[in-house]
Amino acid sequence: MTVFAGIRLADLARELKMTNIELITVMNDLGVSVAGPNALVDAETANAVRDLLGKAPAAGKVASVGADATVKELAQAIGIQPNVAQKKLVEMGELVSITQRLSRALADRLAAAYGYTLQVKAEPKPAAAVATPKHKAPSGAAQVRPPVVTIMGHVDHGKTTLLDTIRKTNVVEGEFGGITQHIGAYQVEVDHEGEKRKITFLDTPGHKAFTAMRARGASVTDIVVLVVAADDGIMPQTVEAINHAQAAQVPMIVAINKMDKPDAKPDRIKQQLTEHNLVVEEYGGDVIAVPLSAKTGTGVSDLLEYILLVADVQELKADASGHATGAIIEAQIVPGRGPVATVLVQSGTLRVGDSLVAGLTYGKVRAMTNERGEKLQKATPATPVEVIGLNAAPAAGDTVEVVKNDKEARQIAERRQQKQRQTMLGGPTKRMTLADLSRRVQEGVTKDLNLVVKGDVQGSVEAVIGQLNELEANKKESEVRLNIKYGGVGSVNESDVLYAESTGAIIVGFNVRAEPSAQRAAERDGVDLRFYNIIYDLVEDMDRAMKGLLTPIYEESPLGKAEVRQSFKTPKGVFIAGCYVTEGKLQRGAEVRLHRGREVLVASKIDTLRRIKDDVREVATGFECGLTLQDWSAEYQPGDIIECFEMKQVLRT
Ligand code: GDP
Repeated sequence: MTVFAGIRLADLARELKMTNIELITVMNDLGVSVAGPNALVDAETANAVRDLLGKAPAAGKVASVGADATVKELAQAIGIQPNVAQKKLVEMGELVSITQRLSRALADRLAAAYGYTLQVKAEPKPAAAVATPKHKAPSGAAQVRPPVVTIMGHVDHGKTTLLDTIRKTNVVEGEFGGITQHIGAYQVEVDHEGEKRKITFLDTPGHKAFTAMRARGASVTDIVVLVVAADDGIMPQTVEAINHAQAAQVPMIVAINKMDKPDAKPDRIKQQLTEHNLVVEEYGGDVIAVPLSAKTGTGVSDLLEYILLVADVQELKADASGHATGAIIEAQIVPGRGPVATVLVQSGTLRVGDSLVAGLTYGKVRAMTNERGEKLQKATPATPVEVIGLNAAPAAGDTVEVVKNDKEARQIAERRQQKQRQTMLGGPTKRMTLADLSRRVQEGVTKDLNLVVKGDVQGSVEAVIGQLNELEANKKESEVRLNIKYGGVGSVNESDVLYAESTGAIIVGFNVRAEPSAQRAAERDGVDLRFYNIIYDLVEDMDRAMKGLLTPIYEESPLGKAEVRQSFKTPKGVFIAGCYVTEGKLQRGAEVRLHRGREVLVASKIDTLRRIKDDVREVATGFECGLTLQDWSAEYQPGDIIECFEMKQVLRT
């Protein structure tokens, strides 16, 4: 290697009090390309940069908020009005109410927009718990930690093979040799510039796990490796992966796989990538593309080197002192062992004996093992460990936190369970439906309509997107912006729903339906799915929504019928209809029409409904009951028919 007078980029960055990335950006603007933090900057360039940036940037501000802060609480923490925060979120493409709780990722983005870094306060302690701090306070000295990597890409492009090859060739030596078992994540050790460095891989390839975690607010992944088969090219799931990684603002490295195949065409892949705003270095961009073969192993070590390089640019650090926080990678109930959960420690150190809360579950770390089956006493940041001792299986993406003692862990988990029950009773938390959006447009609070478009074939997806783009191009100033988050081929799947949930988007399907699991997820998460078979209807609905004209359609759904047998009058002069239910059921509060012969006397609602002497919610066929109607104060007649129904909101099709 040639030695020349210069300074390491990382050292220059430190001198100028800026991050490596900021410095690299400045240098790129100056037309100087640099490889990474270890690159040597020659003295002349360094001086030019010093002249240009002879001032230290203002110190970043830190705001402290609770783990699941609402928009309002966040706004208070960063010193702005809640409606200003809400407006900013709308600009960022997120439609949320002031009382809505934000995901960690979104909260971070909002804070960053005002120059703040968020610090999450521990869950407020229950009043009963006595505060005797057992934990050593974090020393604040953050150390470099291993990067956490997720591999994504189209099916059959080699994700699993790549994970296996990396695991087999680079596994950390342990007492059981190189044999690993699946715990959802593993660590490898790599020689990097004379140093032994670790990398953590999440070994559930694919997008579902990634988006599921993000939807739960866990940002676990530092780097995404996008696998593209050189003999195949960019496919629908490749595009999906790009969208997910970009939405999460996670840097991507492209692994151009299957280079051993005779029909491998890496240049074609690089060209295709540019169509998705991923410009590789040789075309003047900053995306790293590594040609390799997961099967033969060629190029895999280059990939690992690049991962560490990108990790260095990101300056991934964590404080290993203090109590542990982390995220659940996966969890299940194993016969004979009980709930087993893989925890990725994100800060602090997790130890055997610690009391912890994981989502809605709690417990004590009874034992910890790594992917090689070795028993561990402690686990530091970026280390995945299988933990035994929780009372139930938490969900992937749940946050993990070590608390003072078992009692506190149980109280926090129980409070969360209670909160969740309340939310469930209140129905799914509606993110945004097209009808809501239309109403908000009318009220002037919404500026964006975010869409995910799915279609049966590439041609139809393109046609729909083309027409929607035209709509956007011709819209008036006052109308909302239409943002197509992404378009893809195939039925609406769970990963689309999770994506839509995390970006506040509505999913429109053209000539496709939703997979049953996606339908359930959409109902649970309150994501609006709309299906069309006619392009004109789809475009018209979006047009109306953008103009604030889309009113929800309601349809009558029959509940039952009853015949009036007798009319009573109470001493206060109220008429009661003594009825016999002949069909279906009557329901208190439901809509009714009172028929006499061919005439409808009134359309109203059931006010009170009684069986014998008791107030009841409903009365079924074959039973007698007494009822009063709202807006009807006259006598009933035997033979009158009460037709009972409800109004249901229906999706336009
Ligand atoms: P995944 O669906 O993305 O996890 O893909 P897999 O890892 O299951 O790989 C799909 C197929 O491609 C398997 O038959 C692999 O053996 C094969 N494959 C994966 N990587 C390579 C490679 O680098 N070269 C060749 N020739 N085949 C590969």
